[in-house]
Amino acid sequence: MEKLYKGIHEFRKAFFKEEEEFFREIAHSQSPAALFITCADSRIDPNLITQSRPGDIFILRNIGNVVPPYDAIKDKNSVAAAIEFSVIKLQVADIIICGNSNCGAVKALYEDDGYFGDAPHLHEWLELARPAADIVSTYYPSYKDSEMFCAVEKENILLQLNNIQTYPFVKERLESGGLFLHGWYYEIGTGRVSVYDPAADRFVDINIKYKS
Ligand SMILES: [Zn+2]
Repeated sequence: MEKLYKGIHEFRKAFFKEEEEFFREIAHSQSPAALFITCADSRIDPNLITQSRPGDIFILRNIGNVVPPYDAIKDKNSVAAAIEFSVIKLQVADIIICGNSNCGAVKALYEDDGYFGDAPHLHEWLELARPAADIVSTYYPSYKDSEMFCAVEKENILLQLNNIQTYPFVKERLESGGLFLHGWYYEIGTGRVSVYDPAADRFVDINIKYKS
């Protein structure tokens, strides 16, 4: 904890002081351009990898960057609440679903029941990503280890892109052209981000696709 307390002290003393005006301005309201859905993995920092600032992106994180299908969880669905808030109330123009390499959630799909004995919620939650593993074992049965995990991580992004389209208000805005979906894959060890290209049906390095 010491490190975190020290960090807050440092933040107030240096960064905040320099940007005081900016923070005063954004204090009253938010109008983020995008909803950014990603894994809770401690190694992912959405603002860092997109070089964005507080207020730029509405961030929704959970284990495995999962979007439960619209009626999969009835009430108390915090993911649905965040999607409703950002899409309907904040009117974001883009939704990014960002998966990651070396994803613990994907690895956990291959654990046996004993692993989940003391973590029943984790078990239930991960089942929402199970179809991604099923797709890979069906269509790429020869894949093993890191190749298999990587394929499941990417299939999981596509699965969640499909799931978010089961939300009627998302579908409506997608069809009217007021909202756009993006699938990103972030590699922790290289810093590379690739984007799903539906025309090519594969992930393409973002730096090649969108040269600055
Ligand atoms: Zn992850």
